[in-house]
Amino acid sequence: MVQFSFDNSFINQLPGYHEVSLRPRQTHGVCWSKIFPTPVSKPTLLAFSSEVANLLNLSDEDVHSEEFLEAFSGNSLLPGMESYATCYGGHQFGSWAGQLGDGRAIGLGEVINSAGERWELQLKGAGPTPYSRRGDGRAVLRSSLREFLCSEAMHHLGIPTTRALSLITTGEPVIRDMLYDGNSKAEPGAVICRVAPSFTRFGHFEIYAARGEYDLLQQLVNFTISRDFPNITGSQTEILANWFREVCERSARLVVEWLRVGFVHGVLNTDNMSILGLTIDFGPYGWMDNFDPNWTPNTTDAEFHRYCLGKQPKVVRWNLERLAEALARVAPSKSILEDGLVHFDETLQNTITTMLSAKFGFLKWQDEDVDLVNLVFELMTKAEVDMTEFFRRLADIKQHSPNLEILRSAFYQPDIYESHRAFFGNWLQRYSTRLSMQEDTDGSRRLRMNLVNPRFVLRNYLAQQAIDAATLGDTSVIEKLMEAARNPYSDNHSSDLIAKRPEWAINKPGCSMLSCSS
Ligand code: AMP
Ligand code: MG
Repeated sequence: MVQFSFDNSFINQLPGYHEVSLRPRQTHGVCWSKIFPTPVSKPTLLAFSSEVANLLNLSDEDVHSEEFLEAFSGNSLLPGMESYATCYGGHQFGSWAGQLGDGRAIGLGEVINSAGERWELQLKGAGPTPYSRRGDGRAVLRSSLREFLCSEAMHHLGIPTTRALSLITTGEPVIRDMLYDGNSKAEPGAVICRVAPSFTRFGHFEIYAARGEYDLLQQLVNFTISRDFPNITGSQTEILANWFREVCERSARLVVEWLRVGFVHGVLNTDNMSILGLTIDFGPYGWMDNFDPNWTPNTTDAEFHRYCLGKQPKVVRWNLERLAEALARVAPSKSILEDGLVHFDETLQNTITTMLSAKFGFLKWQDEDVDLVNLVFELMTKAEVDMTEFFRRLADIKQHSPNLEILRSAFYQPDIYESHRAFFGNWLQRYSTRLSMQEDTDGSRRLRMNLVNPRFVLRNYLAQQAIDAATLGDTSVIEKLMEAARNPYSDNHSSDLIAKRPEWAINKPGCSMLSCSS
C-alpha cells in the first residue's frame, strides 16, 4: 500500500482559486489554482529512482504497484493528495514576460517522511492548467527522460537539485516541432514526478510585485521564510535581509558548482531559478565536452549566448537583481538588498577560487594562480580539449616528471595535439613548478582532485542513446546511466560511458544542439 503523510502547507496557508477551470487566464490575487491531472490511456513505468523512493519511504513493491502507476501518471490521487498549479511570472531572455505559472506542472502535495522531512511532489507533463497559455500541458519522452536522469546525476555529483522519482510513458502521442523547422511530428508522451522541499522560483515573487499585489508578496515572503528557511531569525528588518543574503549565497554556490562540472543550464530565466538554490527545470541543458566558456546547447540562444557556460555567474546575479527589485516592494530599505548582492559577489569570488584550487590540486589559492588557470582555459578552448577527461588526466601528472602524453587522451584532434604540444608543454612546466611550492604528494593530490573532478558526467550523447533505446522500448541504457551516475567520481566505469563525445554526435540533434521544444 502506497501511504504518505501529507502536510499541504502551500495551498493551506496561501490563497488560491478553489474552482477547477481549465480556461487559460490571469490569476490575480492568488498563489495557486486547483486543477486535476488529465488521465492518460496506457501508463507504463519506464524508470524510477530508488534513492528518491527511499526518501519518500516507498518500498520496491510500492513503486511497482498499480496504485503507484495510476497516481504518478496523473490518473488518480492517493489519499491526502491535493492537486494544484502555482502562479508565477518571470524575466525570459532579459525581458519581463508577465504571468507564466505551472503550465504543465501539477503539485500533488507535500509529503512528510519518517525523518520529518518535507518533500513536495510535482508531476510534469500531466496535462493543462490555467497557466498553460497555448501549450498542451504535456511533455515528450526525450525531454522527460533527460530531466529524470539529470536530476539524479546532479544529486550524486553533490550539487543541489530538484530530484526525480519516476518516469512514466503515457501511451499517448504528443505533437512537437523539435527543430522549429515546420516539421511537427508525434512523439511518445511522458510524465515525470519531481520531488523537492519546495518548487518556489524567483518568478513567484516577481509576479506580485509586477501586479502591485504587495500584501500577497509579503504573505509569500513570510511563508517561504518560515517553511523553507527555518534557520533565518531576527527582527522583521533583519529577517528579510538575512533571508535575501542567504538566497544570494546559495545561488552563488550553485552556479560555481555548475562551472566545476561543466554544466550549462541553458535557460536561466528568473522563472527557472529556485529560491532554495536548487538546479531546477532541466530543458535544453548540456554538459561541456570540449571546453569552451562560450558554449550553449540551447539553439534558441545560439545568437546571443546569453546563457552560455561562462556567463552563468553574471546571469544569476542579474536574476538576483530582478528578485531584489521585487522584494524592494516589501523591504524596509533598499540597502539591505544591495548588501545581499554584494554578498553574492563576495561569495562568488571566494567560492570560485576554492573550486579552482580544488580542481587543479592546489592546497591554497594564490593570487598568481589566476594567470596559470586562465592560460590553460584559453589553450583548452583553442585546442578543443575535453574538460572532464583533462582534469582526470591532470590528476595523474607527476609533479617531478610532468609528462604531456598523459593529457593526450583529452584532445579531440590528434593534429591539434601535435600543433599545441609546445604551448601545453610550457604550461605543464609552470603547473609543476606551482605544485612544487606546496607540501604535498602526487598520491594525495590525485585523490583530492578526483573527488571534485567527475569521471562520469551525463554527456548529451549518452542521454540521447538512452532516449533512442527507450523509444524502442529498451530501458537498459537508462539503468546503465543511472548506475554510473551514482558514483560519478569513481574510476570504475565501463569505457563506453566515459568516452569523449564521438564523431557521430557532433551535429546530431539532442547531442550538441537542443531546442526548447519539449
Ligand atoms: P520553460 O521554458 O520550460 O521553463 O517553460 C516556461 C513556461 O512555459 C512555464 O510557464 C511552463 O509551464 C510553460 N510551458 C512550457 N511548455 C508547456 C506546455 N507544453 N504546455 C503548457 N505550458 C508549457
Ligand atoms: Mg521553466
